[in-house]
Amino acid sequence: MSQEKILIKIINLTKSLVRFQTTADNLGEKRAIIDFVKNEFKGSGVYAKKIVSNRVPSLVITLKKEKNPRLVLVGHLDVVPAERPSDFRPIVRNNRIYGRGTGDMKAACAVMIEVMKNFAQANPKPSLGLILSADEEIGGENGVGFLLRKKGFRPELAVVPDGGTDLSSVVLKEKGLIDLKIKSFGRSAHGARPFLGVNAIDALIGKYAKIRKIIPELKRGQWKNSLNLGKIAGGQATNKVPDYAEMLLDIRIVDERYRSPIMAKIRRIAPDAEIISDGSTFIQDKNARIIDYKNVFEKMLGRRIEFTRSEGASDARYFCEKKIPAIITKIKCGHIHGRNEWVDIPEMGFFYRGLKEFIEKFYSGDKTN
Ligand SMILES: [Zn+2]
Repeated sequence: MSQEKILIKIINLTKSLVRFQTTADNLGEKRAIIDFVKNEFKGSGVYAKKIVSNRVPSLVITLKKEKNPRLVLVGHLDVVPAERPSDFRPIVRNNRIYGRGTGDMKAACAVMIEVMKNFAQANPKPSLGLILSADEEIGGENGVGFLLRKKGFRPELAVVPDGGTDLSSVVLKEKGLIDLKIKSFGRSAHGARPFLGVNAIDALIGKYAKIRKIIPELKRGQWKNSLNLGKIAGGQATNKVPDYAEMLLDIRIVDERYRSPIMAKIRRIAPDAEIISDGSTFIQDKNARIIDYKNVFEKMLGRRIEFTRSEGASDARYFCEKKIPAIITKIKCGHIHGRNEWVDIPEMGFFYRGLKEFIEKFYSGDKTN
């Protein structure tokens, strides 16, 4: 099939994927998209397995009947909520596809689906797999996390096109996270007689100020731990001393060695601080596979590829936990998690071509076996 025809197929598939409203609260749509993709592979001679953890479905595609393919492509089909319902109706304009989840990361999923179909025709078939999960935006524990931590999934290398800015960057570091809920209790009283009560909001603000001293404000361009006070709630009326308040904190760490010291300090300030979710940092060195990948894409794109780091987290951290290297990159896109999300169509084509070439190179040493 010509490059043009493939690209049209990928565009149409992306549009179909965007129409599924696969947000966190919509398990039915997540099931429907997994079935849709499974159906896409019908007749192509691959092995497609639906895996469910805590009702969240994922799809694992392999070309051979094997549990552990050597190389896996990894994508997620869930999205963050849309700004308006029309975001689920994709629009192609000016070499871009607009719509919720186009850049993060349904276009990349469509490319990888077509890459799998391409290699399904190969003889012999390579030991290649594709994981499509449906819970990355809410932590990934029942998708990629489940496969790596509970199902013993151990590929040699993963390709996770869910980090960085465009195909010119390959991410070597991603921050880890600690999401906390901190509560504060007081004693209610009339607002005119605050001395008779204990103000829970005051107490909470005091705790926050102390925690802020542990993790100072982050300036643009700094690669340091960060803290965001994402939500604060409490109180009922002006003239009442509040007896309860709570806050949600989003802490990002640049190295795992900070995790327990930070938590120890926070527990001294707020002993009952509750960890709502956490994720390990992703840190890896350049290795031969990543250099191969860089070379393939530099040659094809005719421009330099930089190794970068990314503040955001991705499912790649579950591979890092098991010391499995991952190639993290992204098809050029914009406004992800925001209004007017888009993905660049030419880079979708380049990603297809480059990924195919890289996979061929990955297995080229095997022929002698
Ligand atoms: Zn993503």
